[in-house]
Order: sequence, then C-alpha cells, then structure tokens
Amino acid sequence: MTRTVYVNGRYQPYSQALVHAEDRGFQFGDAVYEVCEITGGQIIDETRHMARLSRSLAELGIAEPMSPAAWRRVMRETVRRNRVRNGALYIQVSRGAGPRDFLFAGVETPPTVICIARTVNPAKQAAAAEAGISIITMPEMRWARCDIKTVMLLPASLAKEKAKAAGAQEAWFVDAQGLILEGGSSNAWIVNKDNRLVTRPADNAILRGITRTTLIDLLTRDGLSLEERAFSRDEALAAKEAFITSATNLVMPVVKIDGQAVGEGVPGPVVGRLRAGFHEVAEAAAL
Ligand code: PMP
Repeated sequence: MTRTVYVNGRYQPYSQALVHAEDRGFQFGDAVYEVCEITGGQIIDETRHMARLSRSLAELGIAEPMSPAAWRRVMRETVRRNRVRNGALYIQVSRGAGPRDFLFAGVETPPTVICIARTVNPAKQAAAAEAGISIITMPEMRWARCDIKTVMLLPASLAKEKAKAAGAQEAWFVDAQGLILEGGSSNAWIVNKDNRLVTRPADNAILRGITRTTLIDLLTRDGLSLEERAFSRDEALAAKEAFITSATNLVMPVVKIDGQAVGEGVPGPVVGRLRAGFHEVAEAAAL
C-alpha cells in the first residue's frame, strides 16, 4: 500500500509529499504540531489535542489554517487512506514560506499544513509496558516556552540520542534547582511512599500533556490523590513507582533512572492500573 500524506490541501504519495525550501518551519522551527493516538480505529482525545493546537497557534500568532470541521475531515481521510487502526496521527502547521527573514512580514503563503497517519504495532507497545523503560536525567537545555508545542525538537532529539547511547529510552530534563521538568517527549510522574501521585505543575517550563490531563481525570474518578508539584531525582529514586505519559506511550512504567532501579526495578501495580484504565476515561472519536 502506498502511504499518503496530506500537504496543503492535497493527499500525496509519501515520496512526493514536499514543502517549500523556504518554509519557516524548516528555517526557523516556526511551526507547531500535535500527535494523537489512534486505537481500534478511533482518534483518542481529539478535542483536547485540537484545543492545544489552537492555543499553540495563538501563542505564536499563526493563523488557524482551517475550520474545526475541515480538520476533522482531513484527519479522518488521512487515517482512512493509510488504513491505520492502531498508531499515531501527526499534524503540523507552520507559519508558511517566504524569503528568509527573521520578521514575519515577508511570509508569502498561507500556513503550511501537514497530516500524517502511521501504524504502530500495539503488541510492541504492550511488550515495552510489561518490561518498563529506563531513563536518564540531564540538565535542561530548551527555551522558556516549553508550554507551546513547537517543532523546535533538536534538544529533545539530542537528549534521546544520549539516552539511547546509555541504553535508555527517554531522558528527563532537570531544572537549575535539581527538580525534574519532563521527558524529551513525555511528562514525568512518580508514585510516592504514601501512594500519592506526583507530577510537575504545567507552567511555561513544560508541555501540558494531553495524556497527563486525561490521566488526572482518571485519578479523580478513582479517588487517587494527586500532588501537582516538582520532584527531584532523589525523590524519584526513592519512589515506589515512576512513569511517563504521552500520546504515543500512554502510561509507560519507568524502572530505572540513571542506571538505578526504581522500587523493585519492575513495573508496579499503580502504573499498571492507570495504563489499563486510561481508555475508560479518554475521549474516543470514530473515524
Ligand atoms: N512533554 C513533551 C516535551 C512532549 O513532546 C510530549 C509529547 N508530545 C509530552 C510532554 C506529552 O504530551 P501528550 O500527552 O499530549 O502526548
């Protein structure tokens, strides 16, 4: 099957899905994106992802490229054409293209819009969750507006390469006070000695993950206690359990931090329950 990518109003074969050489997303990282999970042919938490996309666009002053109804059509058509039942939906909007200039005034095109749907094997995901992942920590090296979901992902890419070289799957950025910020592409959580869930408040220093928000709904439903506050690496190492959340990993146990075991060094019961319960509270929209 030929993979199809939506680019600026057209569904293109993968090899022909091109954008302009002077696109600002390419030259300045002047673009925002979203990734939604697709499970059983349904788009998960679409409403929240699209609300965050609108917020990211507004924060950067990029025009909304199309109506919510048009977005829904494009997303569904892209999933349908690629026959994705389980996987991820990627959408990106850049400010557009124009002769290279730091200022926005020279942009000559409407925003560049891309939509890509990709199949992911759920068995592979489940196997990762059974085993748990290892993470490393490293000093923060990103900008001060990590609440905006921009494509400026080079620090995250470098961090993940470093994690990979260390035999780990994710890197947690640490602030100047020694407190954990978030992962390269995930939010960070622990379950402390009193069985309370701890995650950093979503201010400008981290992305307010949609999976994080929906997981908080699950905690509320199940009467689990949440502390939205920053925690240190030592606190994470002393915790009963640790995990990350993201649309592509859902709720993924962390069993090692910088080579040291968290708890028993195996995925714990709380994270297991949260992973299992996630789709009971998440919005699932039909194609
Ligand atoms: N933080 C960062 C830096 C991310 O890139 C992501 C994934 N996009 C997340 C957190 C998790 O967000 P979500 O749950 O919306 O996927």
